Amino acid sequence: MERDYPLEKVRNIGIIAHIDAGKTTTTERVLFYTGVSHKIGEVHEGETVTDWMEQERERGITITSAAVTCFWTPTYADPKDKSKKHRFNIIDTPGHIDFTVEVKRSLRVLDGAVVVFDGVAGVEPQSETNWRYADEAKVPRVCFINKLDRTGASFEHSFATILDRLTKKAVRMQIPIGLEEKHEGVIDLLRMKAYYFEGEMGNKVVEKDLSAEAGIPENLIKEAEKYRNELIEKIVETDDVMMEEYLEGVIPNIDVLKKTLRKAVIANEIFPVYAGSALKNKGVQLVLDAVVDYLPAPTDIPPIPGINPDTDEHLVRHADDKEPFAALAFKVATDPFVGQIIFFRVYSGSLAAGSYVYNPRTRNKERIGRILRMHANDREEVKQVFAGEIAAAVGLKDTITSDTICDENNPIELNRIVFPEPVIQLRIEPKTKADQEKMGMALNRLAQEDPTFKVTTDQETGETIIAGMGELHLEIIVDRMKREFTVEANVGKPQVAYRETITGTSEAEGKYIKQSGGRGNYGHVKIKVKPMEMLTKEELEDLPKNTKRHEGFEFVNNIKGGVIPQEYIVPCEKGFKEGLDRGILAGFKIVNVSVDLWDGSYHEVDSNEMAFKIAASMAVQDACRRANPVILEPMMKVEVITPDKFMGDVTGNLSSKRGLIEGMEDRGMNKVIKAIVPLSEMFGYMTGLRSMTEGRAGFTMEFFRYDIVPNNVAETIIATRK
Ligand code: GDP
Repeated sequence: MERDYPLEKVRNIGIIAHIDAGKTTTTERVLFYTGVSHKIGEVHEGETVTDWMEQERERGITITSAAVTCFWTPTYADPKDKSKKHRFNIIDTPGHIDFTVEVKRSLRVLDGAVVVFDGVAGVEPQSETNWRYADEAKVPRVCFINKLDRTGASFEHSFATILDRLTKKAVRMQIPIGLEEKHEGVIDLLRMKAYYFEGEMGNKVVEKDLSAEAGIPENLIKEAEKYRNELIEKIVETDDVMMEEYLEGVIPNIDVLKKTLRKAVIANEIFPVYAGSALKNKGVQLVLDAVVDYLPAPTDIPPIPGINPDTDEHLVRHADDKEPFAALAFKVATDPFVGQIIFFRVYSGSLAAGSYVYNPRTRNKERIGRILRMHANDREEVKQVFAGEIAAAVGLKDTITSDTICDENNPIELNRIVFPEPVIQLRIEPKTKADQEKMGMALNRLAQEDPTFKVTTDQETGETIIAGMGELHLEIIVDRMKREFTVEANVGKPQVAYRETITGTSEAEGKYIKQSGGRGNYGHVKIKVKPMEMLTKEELEDLPKNTKRHEGFEFVNNIKGGVIPQEYIVPCEKGFKEGLDRGILAGFKIVNVSVDLWDGSYHEVDSNEMAFKIAASMAVQDACRRANPVILEPMMKVEVITPDKFMGDVTGNLSSKRGLIEGMEDRGMNKVIKAIVPLSEMFGYMTGLRSMTEGRAGFTMEFFRYDIVPNNVAETIIATRK
């Protein structure tokens, strides 16, 4: 089967925004203009197209990243010209800090993004965080300054905040015609035309000349000329030959300018900025044109790296239908109609419904039942998907978020997405016996969808503990468990997820030898432990896939000459892991330990897997006890924005919370304070900050790293656990 759509006409994009900047409204307008959604649901009515989960509607925020497919022919092209039609796959990205993981993993599979800003506030803290992530992922972006109809809106102010806080490479593509209630349309600086949006939902794009006759005020025309020159300069600067000619007075024509700009945007050298108001139906279509004109097709991005899981050889895959099939599963979701579905991005080759794929993590084959393409309000079943496309699979039971699926005969494991460890946990208890079973199933399902959500059992009390990235994250999980799986449960208070680690080295011997009548037990190991060398994120992503380092534990098998037979090695490894699950000091999981199994012995008759597992678990506990164990706590990167006059109070308060002030800067009339603060001190911070600043300060918080807790704090933690 041949592909139905040329790859150069595909755009895999995300719409990224600070919460409330208007991402949902913009997405809805996009779906409306692209003709799929015929009814616009306002956010407050709870009828949005991408937010199909009940609670998302209630909260008015978008949490999960579903992918929606739609089609767009640029406004400047003949609508009947099929060759101008483009396919967009829009990958949803959440705006709330607790879901940065979702942002990160969407960034992995999208090729370009539209970043939406609030035209009153300009760049907000979360936009900065998301922008940084997009920088790391080298995702080309166009910016949309939204809400220019709002009282207090200023395109220039918002644009200045982008230049100031995000990038000097931003450039105006448009300027607005009028602001606040007078916001009518936009001027395109490349074409030097005015655009108005008329008809139902601004459906009809009307182009006018930039002239007094067409009703454009003189000063606006002057302004447009000034910024047009600036734009052209920015574009020609990216091309030496063009720059030389430009200095001699040659201004390239619009097609050449657009082509050069496209190259620069794809290379992250220019970020074009657009203007409008999604709510008042102004400007969105021209942003869609920009997606076509300037954001990359799958063929414009570098090949994707990976590793052969059998040989650890480095490999790459190109966006080419003829290469072997390789795809990344980036989202497990529960669809109300077809049940569990897995969203995946095909990087190379093609995949037909009904065929088998290989999962290098599980080392198993699985059969893809159906392949779906999700539209805003229906699902299209497709027979085959090709390189560069995004689709959803039905029937994969054992595939989880961030798994590679590939051709069995050409296995590859694409570079994995490294997720941060959960930092907050709480105890959860089913209300009845019937809830008990349902709860286990529900939590497992939710953990499968979300790699930053973990479920464990307290080995002493048997209670279930769930852990996640923040209070809101866990709140939403519990909510989903109650609604989608109808589990009734009592939920404890959120607590910090402490860890333990070792700071020294030591050795130990573990023996589990029991001679009773009949068959006995015999397991015997000798080990050395040491702190694991810390790796950077890049090194982690590049590791051979079968290592356990991702789980904060490294196992080195140095058994020679079969002193422990091969079949007992895996049980030993399991034993080490179990031993490390129970901390020495206060029972928290022990992380970053490297265990070297170097000697031991066995018994022809009495040795068995269980005996080795127990011996290994005892040995690792004993070794860690003598390797200077310490408690680790999550440290958060905190940013507070406050009016100048409260700055002393805010910094003083952060310091009293064991915070380390990293820096201060001016931001308009406000001060921004950056600090590293232990998470345990940050509970209820919002309330405290408000009362300290008459409600005028705000803050964001993001996981930074685990640090050793000071002795006095460790003593308190240990005492409360006892
Ligand atoms: P999200 O949180 O980024 O998805 O933002 P929403 O699309 O939910 O928008 C947040 C609020 O801003 C809603 O009340 C919208 O109606 C409103 N809003 C969105 N876009 C605009 C706009 O262009 N102008 C105005 N005045 N309000 C807008």
